[in-house]
Amino acid sequence: MTFNIEAFSERFDHSAMLAGFRRELITSVQGMAVAGFTKCVESGDEGGGRPWVYISAGVHGDEPAGPMAMLALLKEGVFDERANWLMCPFVNPLGLAAGTRENASGIDLNRDYLERSSEEVQAHAAWLESKPVPDLFVSLHEDWESSGFYLYEINVAGVTSGAHAILDAASSEIPPEPEPVIDDHEVREPGWIDHSPKADLPKHWPEAIFLAERGAGVSYTLETPSSLDLIRRIRCHQLAAGQALDGFLASVTA
Ligand SMILES: [Zn+2]
Repeated sequence: MTFNIEAFSERFDHSAMLAGFRRELITSVQGMAVAGFTKCVESGDEGGGRPWVYISAGVHGDEPAGPMAMLALLKEGVFDERANWLMCPFVNPLGLAAGTRENASGIDLNRDYLERSSEEVQAHAAWLESKPVPDLFVSLHEDWESSGFYLYEINVAGVTSGAHAILDAASSEIPPEPEPVIDDHEVREPGWIDHSPKADLPKHWPEAIFLAERGAGVSYTLETPSSLDLIRRIRCHQLAAGQALDGFLASVTA
């Protein structure tokens, strides 16, 4: 399936504006915007002491469910007064337009956050560095090799894990991946990879490792199986990401 990034971007901009977000142009590649969205509950960088939550999608261009789930979450109204928000819904617009994992130069952006050889990641990492370090990071991905939903957790802050609740929420749409080893990682429980804050390949940092190195408290990388129906994958991401946000925000304000 092809992803109409121009139309999607317009719809996202519109919904983000209605939800009180400010749009920033992170960079543009071949005329296509990489946009960042911020919503700070109170003025100033302090953000009124509320937690900062960052959510990203569309780092891999052949994974359309993530950006679409972010738009659904936006319309659902989850990005409310509980937190200050940062969003990057389509980090790899050319990959999304072409339906390729990599960007137009063949670079896997989610291995580029240390070396920053791509224009997209160079600008995106700099944008993130200009913002407060998030307390929670949620990133939406998909996997061609799995048959179920799974997640990576990097829990630097040592907060109570939200993994069970996220897997539960996801399972009303897609059950957890049954394999004991996923993407070369032994699972802690079905669908749950408890990952260290260090990259598997020292020079090839994914976005989640970059955020962990910056000191982000906890991150969840959510993965839906690409072979299933797109509507189910979008719904699954929406449920799982919604639970990741709700669970974390309930725990910090309790
Ligand atoms: Zn991915």
